[in-house]
Parts: sequence; C-alpha cells; structure tokens
Amino acid sequence: MKEKRIVALDVGGTKLAAAVFEGRQMLASGRRPTLVEGGPDEVFGRIAMLLYSLLDKTGTRAGDLLCIGAGCGGPLDSETGVIYSPPNLPAWDEYPLKQKLEAQFLAPAFVENDANAAALGEHYFGAGKGYRNIFYITASTGIGSGIILDGKLYRGTNYSAGEFGHIVLARNGPRCNCGGRGCLEALASGTAIARRAQREIRRNSESTLAEIIERGGRITAREVAAAARKGDRLASEIFSDAAEYLGLGITTVIHLLNPELVIIGGGLAQTGSQLFEPVRRVVSQRAQRRLADCAQIVPAQMGVNVGVYGALAVALERTGQAG
Ligand SMILES: [Zn+2]
Repeated sequence: MKEKRIVALDVGGTKLAAAVFEGRQMLASGRRPTLVEGGPDEVFGRIAMLLYSLLDKTGTRAGDLLCIGAGCGGPLDSETGVIYSPPNLPAWDEYPLKQKLEAQFLAPAFVENDANAAALGEHYFGAGKGYRNIFYITASTGIGSGIILDGKLYRGTNYSAGEFGHIVLARNGPRCNCGGRGCLEALASGTAIARRAQREIRRNSESTLAEIIERGGRITAREVAAAARKGDRLASEIFSDAAEYLGLGITTVIHLLNPELVIIGGGLAQTGSQLFEPVRRVVSQRAQRRLADCAQIVPAQMGVNVGVYGALAVALERTGQAG
C-alpha cells in the first residue's frame, strides 16, 4: 500500500515554510513571506496557496493526505489549535488555525507551539536522537524552549510549559517584552544584546561598534558577537554577560529537570564556541556536580529546516508514529 503523505507547516512572523513528506522523506518544500500586516485571513490565504502548490507539485491528492502538522508561535492551545495573539503574530487573536486547515484540506491538522515543535524535531531527527530527557532552547531574537521528559513532550497544564525566556534572573533587571522585568529574554536574547549595545555605545565611543552607528547603521547581536571575536571590549562584555545569564538559566533548569541533554538552537547558537564555552563553564561552576556531569550541552542540528521538521515531528507524534 502506498504510504500516506504528511504536510508540515511552519508559521513564522516573517516567513511561512512548508513541505510534503512521504514517511520521513521530504518530497518538496517551499517558502513565502508571512506579511503579517495583512491580518490572519490574508496570511491564511498565502498558507493555502503555498500548500496547494506543494500538493500539486508532488501529485498529492486529497485521499493521499494523512494529516497536517503545524508549528506556530505561542501562546496557543495545542488541543483545539487556537492561537492567542503571539508576539510575532499579534493580530492572531483566538485564531482557529487547526479548524481552518482541516476545513481547507479535509485532513486532520495538529498545531503546536513552534519551540515545542522544534524540540520534537531535534528529538526525532537531530541532536536529540536516542535521548529521553531533553531540554531544547531556541535563542535568537527571543528565547523559547521545549521540554522532552521520558521521551515525551511536556506541555504543561494549559499547554504553556517551557517559557524559559521568562524565568526571572535579575530582580531589578531590564524590562521584558512580556511586561515583566529581569527575564532571561531581556538579559540574553539577541534583542537584549543589541539593545544594550545601542544604549552603552554612547558612553563608549572607542568601541568599534560606534562606527556602525556613525555610518547610520543599526547594531544587531550578530555585530556585537563579531566585534567581541575581534577583541572589542564593550562587545565582549555585553556578549559574555548574555552568555553567563543563559548559563545561569540552564543551571536552574538542570537542577529542576535533571536532563541528559541540553540543545541550543537559534541564531545565537550559530556563534558556536563563543556561546557554548562560557555557557558550559557557568553550568560546570554553578550546577551540582552530579547534575552537571550528566547534562551535555550541545548545538542543535536541524538548522534552517527545524521549522518544517519540527512540524513533521508534531504530525508523527500526534498520529502515534513517533520513535
Ligand atoms: Zn519576560
């Protein structure tokens, strides 16, 4: 019998990515800009066009489709598939993504928070293969996480577990996008790194970052990391403070969950040893020996494909084909 196909969809704030899979083999993939300004129905129209083009390209007919797996920014209810105004899709207020997909494509759809989806993707296909207790972190403009315990995704009481970016690490720390103060995301995300550099550059005109401002450019975390690698003092201080806070956050999680593997993905992880060395050092200094010794801290492996492979993993998990 011909194996049924799975559509994997990643709904991001700037891009939509999708792929058609047969089993675990990708048959075709595509991308579109999200263009959130148009509102959810317009974005859904683009999602539908993208999926139809991939179904067409792969000769997938309605009866060949097993299900759709989708990753989307949270908060969302992963049972009902309703989205509740995520920061990257602010107009998606109580948007019934699962219902819309099912009505359009006449197949079951499963919707999961994108960090959870990425955690499952790394667990099934990437750095987390063969491990049972995994803490997955995505560190880029924001900081999110997914928790795999005893081989299963831990979603929490109302599907909101894993808000690692909003654990509070500094009592009077900087303001966070969530309205709180001193959250990890406000201390260690790419946005936090760039924001601090923009602020401190005015008092540190000898920093090479000042040239970027003089040219009329905007400082990003990538530039701070690059300047730090070249020995710029301000940039080094900002980047290593962020890495230290990330290490402290991971230390907390290691004490709480006793994972065997901590996977770090997202843009910040692309700085490699520049991030991993200080993070590992902080954990080995701060965590209890027995806990630190068994928790490896490794880079994610799925790279730019984490969105669609995460969505595929969601589909496999919900249809009982995991493992
Ligand atoms: Zn926060």
